[in-house]
Amino acid sequence: MYDYLIVGAGLFGATFANLATKTGYKVLVIDKKPVIAGAIYTERKDNIDIHVYGPHIFHTDDKEIWDYFSSFGEMNNFINAPLAFFKGKLYHMPFNMNTFNALWGVTTPLEAKKKIDQQVKAADIKEVKNLEDQALSLVGSDVFNTLIKGYTEKQWGRACKDLPSSIIKRLPLRFTYNNNYFNDRYQGIPVDGYTAIIEKMLEGIEVKLNIDFLDNKDELEKQANKIIYTGEIDRFYDYCFGHLSYRTLRFETDRLEEENHQGNAVINYTEREVPYTRVIEHKFFNYRESPVTYVTREYPKEFKPGDDPFYPINNKENLDLYAKYQEKALADKKLIFAGRLGQYKYFDMDDTIKAAKDLFAKLKA
Ligand SMILES: Cc1cc2nc3c(=O)[nH]c(=O)nc-3n(C[C@H](O)[C@H](O)[C@H](O)COP(=O)(O)OP(=O)(O)OC[C@H]3O[C@@H](n4cnc5c(N)ncnc54)[C@H](O)[C@@H]3O)c2cc1C
Repeated sequence: MYDYLIVGAGLFGATFANLATKTGYKVLVIDKKPVIAGAIYTERKDNIDIHVYGPHIFHTDDKEIWDYFSSFGEMNNFINAPLAFFKGKLYHMPFNMNTFNALWGVTTPLEAKKKIDQQVKAADIKEVKNLEDQALSLVGSDVFNTLIKGYTEKQWGRACKDLPSSIIKRLPLRFTYNNNYFNDRYQGIPVDGYTAIIEKMLEGIEVKLNIDFLDNKDELEKQANKIIYTGEIDRFYDYCFGHLSYRTLRFETDRLEEENHQGNAVINYTEREVPYTRVIEHKFFNYRESPVTYVTREYPKEFKPGDDPFYPINNKENLDLYAKYQEKALADKKLIFAGRLGQYKYFDMDDTIKAAKDLFAKLKA
């Protein structure tokens, strides 16, 4: 008999399993996939760690979380400084003095602020009715048309005029020449890849792969006092109230016989006409010598059952649906839904670790 059966060997499951095992509980981890690590799975090819389910940059302001995560493997000093490509020209992200210089030739924060104020005034938005109004009233037409409009329309599959303004609450503008995308104090990428970190977290713990809980429910349920389920909550209940919606991505990866293809880890393509949103060159996340390189183009797409669920769509309809599943789950005292899929919520990796730590502390108390 196990104290905990953990369904899912992703970051949530591995963190919970690690904490529970260290405290002396008997734990079994299962995953339906043939590999561990869930969405943060990395695979080494030609000496390059490929981020198979999208690029992952670990960043946090919480020293305890950073120390915990990095205790399982060395982190490098990667700083995310993405670029945006629009009609043959490159712009720095997040929007900062380098971006404003490339757009207008301005060199001082005062000149840049003036330009943005002028454009916001010229847009003359009296009432914000949609995402386009919202963006124009925050940053004006040049930043919106060059860097936001096409990218956002590709991401959501709809025109900015047809998207709710709530998607963009703020658009941070930086009046410095700092290209570091994140404001967090700690950031980096595991030197040996994310899979190696999860492997270390799960060291000494019984892990069974290629097992779908839902195909073996009756038998598995009998084997544990508590079940921590990190898979999709709607699938668990056989979609009895309906499907929760997600946005997902299709990846196209090429191995190129060249050492350096684009010179940066991430380049966003902000033109509506280019069908992908980003091109990732994996070797620049964690540079190691290799005569070849791997690039991935990301194509946003509508989620269909069977696809990898990536980004929950937190509109009223979905949140109401999730609340119904949550209520059903409360009736089961043995089962706890957790992680990004169990809770139908986007969690960064540091939030995921924090949530796993908090849940374990609550259950232990
Ligand atoms: C495209 C993308 C990019 C991201 N980039 C970043 C980033 O740069 N920085 C950052 O901090 N965070 C990022 N994140 C968030 C990060 O991926 C999550 O915080 C983290 O992966 C959550 O871990 P999890 O264990 O909750 O979920 P998952 O990693 O999805 O793990 C769930 C596991 O459960 C298994 N499972 C599901 N159902 C069953 C079943 N019935 N039986 C057995 N096993 C089952 C699945 O196979 C999976 O392995 C990104 C997320 C996405 C989608």
